[in-house]
Amino acid sequence: MPFFYPRLLLIFLFYFCFAVAQAQPTQTEIRYYGTGCFTVQRGENVLLTDPFIGNPSATKVLFGKIRTDTAYVKLYMNPAAFRKVKLVVAAHSHYDHLMDLPYLSNIIPDSTPIVCNKTGKHLLSFYEMKQPMVAANDGMGTNAFVGTWHYSVDSTMRTMAFKSMHPPQTAGINFWNKRYAQDLVAEPSIVSDWQEGQTLSYMVDWLEDSVVAYRMFFMSSMAKTPNGLFPKELLDEHGIDDLLIGASGSAEYSSFPGPVVELCKPKRILLIHWENFFRSKEEPFKAIDSNGLEAMTKSLKEKCSSETQIITPIPLNYY
Ligand SMILES: [Zn+2]
Repeated sequence: MPFFYPRLLLIFLFYFCFAVAQAQPTQTEIRYYGTGCFTVQRGENVLLTDPFIGNPSATKVLFGKIRTDTAYVKLYMNPAAFRKVKLVVAAHSHYDHLMDLPYLSNIIPDSTPIVCNKTGKHLLSFYEMKQPMVAANDGMGTNAFVGTWHYSVDSTMRTMAFKSMHPPQTAGINFWNKRYAQDLVAEPSIVSDWQEGQTLSYMVDWLEDSVVAYRMFFMSSMAKTPNGLFPKELLDEHGIDDLLIGASGSAEYSSFPGPVVELCKPKRILLIHWENFFRSKEEPFKAIDSNGLEAMTKSLKEKCSSETQIITPIPLNYY
């Protein structure tokens, strides 16, 4: 019955292609938007970190009102990835880690949990976003204690927050370090409205059949040890594939990033929040502290094995 042969061949080809596709390991695609803002995509599962894409000028930040420039954010963000965001984590609630989330919440799915600190929850309450807000302070871990996992709705991703800290911005002073205990009734519109709250670092897992397939650790501000660290026992389940660490202000803590790098022993290190975020993305990217960035890169190269990739990501590029 030669009539059936082409049909059989097609069925065979279909199953062959399906099997090949299943056998391919899932690729991780990290897109950097500047400061601590990334989308980290594996298949259909995307993480969004420290949502901030607009770069208001220093004059505006210090003397004016700061609000999301929607046309600017639209120009630079990739909506296809944002529509797949299944978890959002924000390390603290300064404007350069959170300000564009109310606008982006119109693009990310309504069911996506937003994990931030309590101050962020109170700050953002004004916007009445559809997504559930998870204040991670209560379940946060420390270097000695395991915290609570927060899952995406479909349980393909999870995150655990750890108690961290924020370095001083200048001359040993940490500005805007208050915590809110209740919802704001007015829209946050000037820099001092965006108070820090409890700074957190995050472990994030991508799960395949309930097993960790990829793990990253996100620490967008440098912290004095043991702040920002996690208990070593968590590594028994899976090591750290990518470590994303803040690179600004490296003069503050002489030991940073030694302890976090020694704990994580990651395959790749991405140095984040390194660029001058007061400059428009239309201008060439420049380090906010080029000597500090150079010193940190040098010290990492000395500490890490030659297999560890050390990357200073360029905003709007993929890694
Ligand atoms: Zn900050």
